[in-house]
Amino acid sequence: MNFKTERRIALISVHGDPAIEFGKEEAGGQNVYVRNVGEALARLGWQVDMYTRRVSAAQDEIVQHMPNCRTIRFSAGPLEFVPRDELFGYLPEFVEKFLKFQQENGLTYELVHTNYWLSSWVGMQLKKKIGCKQVHTYHSLGAVKYATIDQKDIPPIAANRLDVECQLLETAERVVATSPQEKAHMRQLVSTKGNIDIIPCGTDIQRFGSVGRDEARAALKIDSDAKLVLYVGRFDPRKGIETLVRALRESKFYSDEKLRVIIGGGSVPGQSDGIERDRIEAIVDELGLRSITTFAGRLSQEVLPTYYAAADICVVPSHYEPFGLVAIEAMASGTPVIASDVGGLQFTVVPEQTGLLAPPQDVPAFASCIDRILENPEWRAKLGEAAKIRVRKKFSWDGVAEQLSELYIKLTEQPVPVPVPVPIPVPATATATASVTVTEKE
Ligand code: UDP
Repeated sequence: MNFKTERRIALISVHGDPAIEFGKEEAGGQNVYVRNVGEALARLGWQVDMYTRRVSAAQDEIVQHMPNCRTIRFSAGPLEFVPRDELFGYLPEFVEKFLKFQQENGLTYELVHTNYWLSSWVGMQLKKKIGCKQVHTYHSLGAVKYATIDQKDIPPIAANRLDVECQLLETAERVVATSPQEKAHMRQLVSTKGNIDIIPCGTDIQRFGSVGRDEARAALKIDSDAKLVLYVGRFDPRKGIETLVRALRESKFYSDEKLRVIIGGGSVPGQSDGIERDRIEAIVDELGLRSITTFAGRLSQEVLPTYYAAADICVVPSHYEPFGLVAIEAMASGTPVIASDVGGLQFTVVPEQTGLLAPPQDVPAFASCIDRILENPEWRAKLGEAAKIRVRKKFSWDGVAEQLSELYIKLTEQPVPVPVPVPIPVPATATATASVTVTEKE
């Protein structure tokens, strides 16, 4: 696409750095989404600036990914990893840094695309200060998350998050739901007001699907007749890895000497993902699965296609998933997916055609799905083939970026919005950024 005038877009992802290694703690689908959308938009002719928080002095302040696509990191709060539930107090500083950078570099953004509720707050401030328009992708909804965790685990920031998420939906020029299921949740649990478009997440269909099964098994030294079950994702109790390992204990194939399990995902000892990995390893030991299970650690995007292609099935046992990139990566690689019957997984996985769905946390149901596919290799191959075709048709990053690009152009051609009349919540923890003046009432 060749634009007559320069078209510049800011993608804001305060806690999900698009330039970081994927698969680490708090680095997952959002990081992958922002990076791939950014790069695909640049291929379409956009000047793309992706903004995030700098978490270490060792990190570059600017990373150039390709011509017209870069990540810009601001120091807002301490130069160290801070869990996302503790970041709200540093957002005013992030807004100030953004405005300063924009001014110093002579940049003008007619539109910002924010990601996750923290960035949505930043976007709402920018709307007031620079009169830009806002597109938002939630990635996760507080109202859904808090309904699926124990009351005691609900963090103090929850009330602010719910408030911000509601105001955002009612005031953003457009909210992007990544699946019809996510849109329905927004309407049921957040607000009936506001504009929502459905534009899915995507995947790299050149990368995933590039490796054949035999080649992949040879590379990973896995026997051609092994029954290989794969999990890929973060170590987080809500990802349901426990359901998967307990289902393998109940599977008919438990005592089959050909059964193999690979659990891929990064973790840092002592951090929340390290604690979850220790818990899963203890369950694996207790169930007698240790000798057939490999904890592969963080898998880079370069090696992931080989893992997906080698697997007989990829299991996505999440308690909830607004979209679930892993499912479409596996499908693009020709591997059927057994997933929880929730959220975006109901949109991507077509039961009996590209894989199977089971109720979340239902160990016997997952065991039965695993058995059905493992005992029928011909059906497995058919499901995998159909899965690959579905992803190629519906979920490529280039297709996603084209839809977003059309939306941005449509919105920027509309008249400038009237200022937001409602007060936006102010971080109560602004003491963390005591040197920053929060100017809410402009
Ligand atoms: N991922 C990765 N290496 C790993 C584990 C995960 O690159 O070891 C990537 C995976 O390929 C996917 C993303 O992290 O693109 C996870 O996204 P998903 O939407 O499945 O889950 P989220 O992390 O957003 O909950």
